[in-house]
Amino acid sequence: GKWVYSFGAGRNEGKAEMRNLLGGKGANLAEMASIGLPVPPGFTITTEVCTWFYDHGKKYPEDLRAQVDEALARVEETVGNRFGDAKRPLLVSVRSGARVSMPGMMDTVLNLGLNDQTVEGLEAASGDSRFAWDSYRRFIQMYGSVVLGIDHHRFEEIIEDAKLAANATEDTALTARDWRGVVDGYKAMVQEVRGEPFPQDPQDQLWGAIGAVFGSWMNPRANTYRRLHDIPADWGTAVNVQAMVFGNMGEDCATGVCFTRDPSTGEDIFYGEYLINAQGEDVVAGIRTPQPMSEARAKPDERSMEKAMPAAYAELVKVRETLERHYRDMQDIEFTVQQNKLYMLQTRNGKRTAAASLKIAVDMAAEGLIDRKEAVNRVAPSSLDQLLHPMLDPEAPRKLFSKGLPASPGAACGVVVFSADEAEARANKGEAVILVRIETSPEDIHGMHAARGILTTRGGMTSHAAVVARGMGRPCVAGAGGVTVDYNGQTLSSGGQTVRAGETITLDGASGEVFVGAVPMIEPKLSGDFATLMEWADQSRRLRVRANAETPLDAETARKFGAEGIGLCRTEHMFFDPDRIGAVRQMIMSETERGRREALARLLPFQRKDFLDLFRIMAGLPITIRLLDPPLHEFLPHREEDLAEVAEALGADPAAMKRRAADLAEANPMLGHRGCRLGISYPEIYEMQARAIFEAAIETAKSTGKAPVPEIMIPLVATKRELEITRAQVERMAKAVFAEAGMEVEYQVGTMIELPRAALCADAIAEPADFFSFGTNDLTQTVFGLSRDDAGKFLPLYVEQGILPKDPFVSIDIDGVGALVRIAKEKGRGVKPELKLGICGEHGGDPASIQFCEEAGLDYVSCSPYRVPVARLAAAQAAL
Ligand code: ADP
Ligand code: MG
Ligand code: MG
Repeated sequence: GKWVYSFGAGRNEGKAEMRNLLGGKGANLAEMASIGLPVPPGFTITTEVCTWFYDHGKKYPEDLRAQVDEALARVEETVGNRFGDAKRPLLVSVRSGARVSMPGMMDTVLNLGLNDQTVEGLEAASGDSRFAWDSYRRFIQMYGSVVLGIDHHRFEEIIEDAKLAANATEDTALTARDWRGVVDGYKAMVQEVRGEPFPQDPQDQLWGAIGAVFGSWMNPRANTYRRLHDIPADWGTAVNVQAMVFGNMGEDCATGVCFTRDPSTGEDIFYGEYLINAQGEDVVAGIRTPQPMSEARAKPDERSMEKAMPAAYAELVKVRETLERHYRDMQDIEFTVQQNKLYMLQTRNGKRTAAASLKIAVDMAAEGLIDRKEAVNRVAPSSLDQLLHPMLDPEAPRKLFSKGLPASPGAACGVVVFSADEAEARANKGEAVILVRIETSPEDIHGMHAARGILTTRGGMTSHAAVVARGMGRPCVAGAGGVTVDYNGQTLSSGGQTVRAGETITLDGASGEVFVGAVPMIEPKLSGDFATLMEWADQSRRLRVRANAETPLDAETARKFGAEGIGLCRTEHMFFDPDRIGAVRQMIMSETERGRREALARLLPFQRKDFLDLFRIMAGLPITIRLLDPPLHEFLPHREEDLAEVAEALGADPAAMKRRAADLAEANPMLGHRGCRLGISYPEIYEMQARAIFEAAIETAKSTGKAPVPEIMIPLVATKRELEITRAQVERMAKAVFAEAGMEVEYQVGTMIELPRAALCADAIAEPADFFSFGTNDLTQTVFGLSRDDAGKFLPLYVEQGILPKDPFVSIDIDGVGALVRIAKEKGRGVKPELKLGICGEHGGDPASIQFCEEAGLDYVSCSPYRVPVARLAAAQAAL
């Protein structure tokens, strides 16, 4: 087989596309060499050798040595030096390089080929003794620690002794003589530690280093990294052997690491660091302070490369252009300047922040490097999340209080309050508050809405607090287990620090960090590049994007982010409002229809107003309104003393109240008396809601001249008959209201598909339905037989052990839930080709799930308002 590929040595046998075989570093070295960039010659030993090595008890293929010899000979010929030659020695670096860059692998060994003879050759050839002996000691040090496994302190001690002896504080003050002494010290130490001398034969050195690179593929650090990043062990690493160039030969030499654009802002400026008279890792090692590349970024006391080495810099600027033109992306590069001549040592696509990614994509499209579709594909939809919320000013000082889960992105700052009521009261007075709870429940919704941010000490990424906060776009840190909340004492404490109610804290929902005091923030920008990219995305997508929204604020946010309608308006969220909960509870407590109708009559004006607001804000866009869904018990207070209070307020008998609450309690409310089952037992509830919708629609039509088209959605339907009955209720109410008003509006009635039976019998259910909306939250629960509220106990383990590839509440389970969606679509459209199909729930904002929706041929996705841009971009990428 062919195990070795040359680059820059008279021939280039590799190219960028061969990353799997040559690793990222090797493939790109070959690519750079083949487009004429100055790359020191070398060769790559393939990842297949690594696999072979582990398959054969850590031995090499028989013909490997001959191929390495041949490739090395080609390098010798190109450079004009020979490996191991006493007069003109070729020195090489040995570098690891997997398909993806991977910390934990063996560090690079530089200057390999030096020994007691060749160091003198290097000294004579360069005319620089200090350089030669410094290079030799660096080599022994790197090889000693990386290949021979000697603790680096042992080397540092010897340097410290040399500095003491020479009365020097900096390495740079040591002379050739001093370094010679250090080399002697190193060799003696290696002999002592290893019981054998430092290898003098360059061939032994080379194979020692190659073996160490392959060996490092399976070291514990690399294994851990691979496990965390889902990198298969059988990918293997390549080994790159490359002729050395020297950035440490004097003041006309340098080495640097840089990005072709600013990786944090995306600005089109050479960004990075370099050091004069330095080698390899010196730039990152922090021994000396690296200097900036461009003069524009240099502070008064700094010396930019642009100024210090104008010729080499000018050449590098040309290389930068060539690389960007060739790779059509921002590059992260390593270079060395030897006696004013530039050499390229590495290039790869540069990592960048979300903001930079956006700017670079838009700029590159404007520059003609990529087209608009490519620009749309370049930005990870989930990264937009970071850009849509205020974030902490990265420069600002801060004092950490504790850390929890990054449950909902964005930064928030405000005074600490411990109850939802207080959050609302203080927010109404214009204060910014952070709601701190051990955990939250549906009763806290109004306080969560009023708060700028939410902190809980219990619960995971799918806890009530996390899900609701993401939905509302409120920053949230959940499950901060290190924080103790004392509701009585009105304090929260962590690691000896205590914060009282009324004192200010800052949350970073993207990192999970909590800070004491106010940390300055940066506001998101929805114009400029963001708007441009979104416009391009909209031109490419087929799926419509709607939002889940019920309050005017959510609806306004949704529109601002480009929602094309409301896909899910959960009317029960309107019931928790303190003005109404009394009427809601009165309705629930009534044991007679009459009593219920009385209470519902009190609710009607509120509901009508809710819909009026939504119709006005959405201005003719479609709005799917789901009729009451949760079990009634959810609206009752949970604690006994609160129950007594409610009884008093309602003028009801506390004992009767308690009895009724007990009657309503269910063993398994998720599968209990909820959804259309409520509408069928208590038709007056759905009738009131339908009336409110139609009255609001008619009022909107009369006042604006434009009639909204409400899509009325019946939840938790399992059978055709259920939908027929509830549809008839709605239609009766429509007739009544239209007759009273003397005019009609258009409307639709459809259902959620959230039970397996509904999906399987979708052909029957489609008959009385104008649309289906897949409620994939409940569908996931019912398909898996898995309660979302209890899944936290074992779901993380399932994901960790690979029993499930991902949390099915975050990303749709394509095999199971997805199969039912496809069946329902086939059956539904089979009887009704014009049946409108959408999806609502957490999945509507998840890029992988959106990809599925595109493939399944749905009409729209609906997600929380803050995820609308994410969904627009993901929908475009799914279509491209
Ligand atoms: P990493 O993957 O950790 O960046 P590299 O293999 O890229 O490791 O090398 C580490 C450092 O050594 C880099 O600064 C690189 O520029 C330098 N280096 C590698 N090979 C050579 C060489 N042939 N000549 C000069 N410097 C080199
Ligand atoms: Mg390194
Ligand atoms: Mg590198």
